[in-house]
Amino acid sequence: MAAVVLRKTTLLDYPGKVAAALFFPGCNLRCPWCHNRELIRGDAAGELSPEEALGHLEKRRAVLGGVVLSGGEPTLYRGLAGLIRRIHGLGLPVKLDTNGMDSGALEALLRDRETRPDYIALDLKAAPERYGSLLPSPAAAGEAASIRARGELERSAALIRQSGIEREFRTVVLPGSFLGPADIAGLAPLADDSPWYFRPFRPGNCLDPAWDRLEAPRREEVEALAETARSLGKRGMVPGV
Ligand code: SF4
Repeated sequence: MAAVVLRKTTLLDYPGKVAAALFFPGCNLRCPWCHNRELIRGDAAGELSPEEALGHLEKRRAVLGGVVLSGGEPTLYRGLAGLIRRIHGLGLPVKLDTNGMDSGALEALLRDRETRPDYIALDLKAAPERYGSLLPSPAAAGEAASIRARGELERSAALIRQSGIEREFRTVVLPGSFLGPADIAGLAPLADDSPWYFRPFRPGNCLDPAWDRLEAPRREEVEALAETARSLGKRGMVPGV
């Protein structure tokens, strides 16, 4: 059974709620700027079994407004549906953070009222045709895997848009020319009029240590990409503004 990292309280991860967050190890992408290095490599400290985490949630249900399931990539955890069902059984809503790389797992969750998340955040990382470069061993994965990754992202985004579930889209603004207006234009069809948050990359503890030497983008650069999204009819926003 997977082990999870529990954050007992967060005011930042579930809009408008005091929440607990469970972080699942492992991911089907390898974004070099990822800050969850230990989770991706599977050596994060303080891991609990999902059963132990549920015990904590049960004790704290009276003070919690919801539970965030994040990662890593939580849809890789095959017990996710059962876990969501049990969190719902505690009377707590669930927010799912996902990279959209497993549309089948997402679709299965959405099919059942008891396992449907109550809020979904979908990461939009770069133009869909660039997702192949974020796969583990992109060169070995080849063109077919790259096309599959794009398809997964597009299917997941469509499922989320059509789900009627409250949602947000999220993009990390990367340093230099790693992410530009062409990426936002490529991603825009995947978003709807739900909030699309743009946050700056921060160096430190990156999956690829070379990224720790890069500078965080300036506020104006973050604003500029949010503005690009708005110019395309989307709700591009920079949190805190
Ligand atoms: S940033 Fe998210 S999707 Fe990318 S490797 Fe890290 S956990 Fe996975």
